[in-house]
Amino acid sequence: MALARPIVFGNWKMHGLRAEAKALAGGLAERVGRPSATLGVFPPATVLAEVAAQLAGTGILVGGQDCHDKPKGAFTGSISAPMLKDAGAVAVIVGHSERRHGLGETDALVRAKVQAALEAGLLAILCIGETEAEWLEGRTLEVLERQLDQSWPQGASAARVVVAYEPVWAIGTGRTPTLDDIGRSHAAIRARLERLASDGDKVAILYGGSVKADNAGAIMAVAGVDGVLVGGASLDPDGFFAIYRAG
Ligand code: PEP
Repeated sequence: MALARPIVFGNWKMHGLRAEAKALAGGLAERVGRPSATLGVFPPATVLAEVAAQLAGTGILVGGQDCHDKPKGAFTGSISAPMLKDAGAVAVIVGHSERRHGLGETDALVRAKVQAALEAGLLAILCIGETEAEWLEGRTLEVLERQLDQSWPQGASAARVVVAYEPVWAIGTGRTPTLDDIGRSHAAIRARLERLASDGDKVAILYGGSVKADNAGAIMAVAGVDGVLVGGASLDPDGFFAIYRAG
């Protein structure tokens, strides 16, 4: 999938009863026209099919927030990549810090999930990022490289995987790394991707963590930043659109 840049993705997390999701998707649909960049939303699985139907024809891509690493089976409560695809998703987020650190997901599991997404024909958004302790210890680049080494599946390509650099300490906190630090991390990710994939120079790398309308333009202007993954600010159509316009 060739994605026009900048890429602006909104992760709704566990927000959106049916009426709220309908209003939010409707607000996006009426503002968007045809996006010149890539715009995408990742609603909760319970409303994914409805949001995908509502946004059909707008050019806004719809994805899931996580998937199981198996296509089907006795896994109560889990949702597989083929199920997401069947519901209208074209992409799925894997390895978000709220799953790595909140639910103990390992790099190996994240890699299996990326693989499952690819096998289902979904674009995988692979999240990586250091914790606050790792950042304070100056271990950011080492952590990013390790996460990439251990969660990038062999043979994966730029057309099928997007990497999202999300410092754990920046998610939902209102804090962000300096622009220089974001540039440094993205450069290290790029260098690692060039070792891991034959087209590693083409993999889109997003920044995520407290992106708002007032910092999005500066962040997206950093060399090596191909777009943003937005959490909280994606729940308001005006704010999300302001971010999209800033790119
Ligand atoms: C996220 O959870 O992916 C995220 C970037 O959240 P926020 O924008 O709210 O920091």
